[in-house]
Amino acid sequence: MDKIKVKSTIVEIDGDEMTRIMWKMVKDKLLLPHLSMNIEYYDLHIKNRDATDDQVTIDAARAIMRHGVGVKCATITPNEDRVQEYGLKKTWKSPNATIREILDGTVFRTPILAKNIRPSVSTWQKPISIGRHAYGDIYSNTEMRIFCPGKAEIIFTPAETGPPVRQTIKEFTGPGIIQGIHNTDESIENFAQACFAFSLDQNIDLWFSTKDTISQTYDARFRDIFFAEYEKNWKEKFTRAGISYFFTLIDDAAARIIKSEGGILWALKNYDGDVMSDMIASAYGSLAMITSVLVSPHGYFEYEAAHGTVQKHYYKHLKDEETSSNSMAIIFAWSGCLRKRGELDATREVVSFADNLEEASISTIESGMMTGDLLLVADKNPNNKKVTTEAFIDAIAQNLQKRLPG
Ligand code: NAP
Ligand code: MG
Repeated sequence: MDKIKVKSTIVEIDGDEMTRIMWKMVKDKLLLPHLSMNIEYYDLHIKNRDATDDQVTIDAARAIMRHGVGVKCATITPNEDRVQEYGLKKTWKSPNATIREILDGTVFRTPILAKNIRPSVSTWQKPISIGRHAYGDIYSNTEMRIFCPGKAEIIFTPAETGPPVRQTIKEFTGPGIIQGIHNTDESIENFAQACFAFSLDQNIDLWFSTKDTISQTYDARFRDIFFAEYEKNWKEKFTRAGISYFFTLIDDAAARIIKSEGGILWALKNYDGDVMSDMIASAYGSLAMITSVLVSPHGYFEYEAAHGTVQKHYYKHLKDEETSSNSMAIIFAWSGCLRKRGELDATREVVSFADNLEEASISTIESGMMTGDLLLVADKNPNNKKVTTEAFIDAIAQNLQKRLPG
């Protein structure tokens, strides 16, 4: 049988530990037997980032800018333990942060629903998507420990004319810590546009929340930019589509979301989105049951699994013990990337392959065959069976084969 041809180049970014093991299985068993792809490969294994002084991460982000669409495996963000474990030169920066800084943009996360996995919040009937601003704030901060009494200031020096502007952060009388964060109007405007566009595209309400009562300049700026963008470019379109835009304080949003029925895009600042997306994913079943895509305002797309490298499972795998790690987020990173590539290239057969791959994966879970994380939360059924990492992917491969034409 002829393989389905993916017309344009896909940027593939490999990663670490258990997700690297699953990544290869997904490629070998679900993709390569059916697709002919032109891949530009970047190896972000922690040892290769170390060997290249992290240049490979920058190269990978630039490759996405050249080709438009990429797919990324989870990667270790090294801390001191990892420096020891892998003998690294230093605690390299989070690759996700590096890539997001280069591409800018918004990360959209949407739960993957299966009929037999019910959300832990009983009112949630529909998916809650998260739109996470992927630029600035603490992810590109400057921070400092203070060891002695003294004055900490925030200073802005205009590039052209005018004297520096300064404000006191704190008169320290003893040791402490300080942090400087930033954002730009341009990035917030892009964030707002991406969120309004996503809501309209999915025909769902948009909620946006910040801590604007406390942060009356920083967070309030986000609120004001969203409001202006809405009034100027989206109000009519939203009204016509019968959807709404709603701004509220983040505490209020957190309380309301628990009582909502879902079917919302919840837009959040970088850190809020980081935390809330894990909470939402886990409430819908598992960290592996959520899709994640970085949408850049310049028209680049990076698909990824939102969870980490599943370190504990990897150590079991290294000891030749059986693992039951869930590859759904990795599979959906690939299907999302392939669908987008197919849409951009106008290759219907690629889009349809992505649909089939997703349906085959969900129906495998609905048949009762699932990994350990899902067995804990699935509806009780005598057909339920916990399978190994590999057996799960094999079952999807069989299901996929049945769905493909020819
Ligand atoms: P993690 O890899 O997300 O795993 C945390 C726990 O969640 C696992 O121990 C496992 O629980 C469960 N889990 C996550 N993904 C799963 C899957 N696919 N299937 C089954 N269970 C899953 O987070 P972590 O252990 O805190 O971080 C490990 C490494 O990942 C760190 O080095 C961190 O820097 C990195 N990280 C990378 C990314 C990224 O690149 N996108 C994101 C976050 C973290 P049980 O052990 O209870 O089974
Ligand atoms: Mg997170």
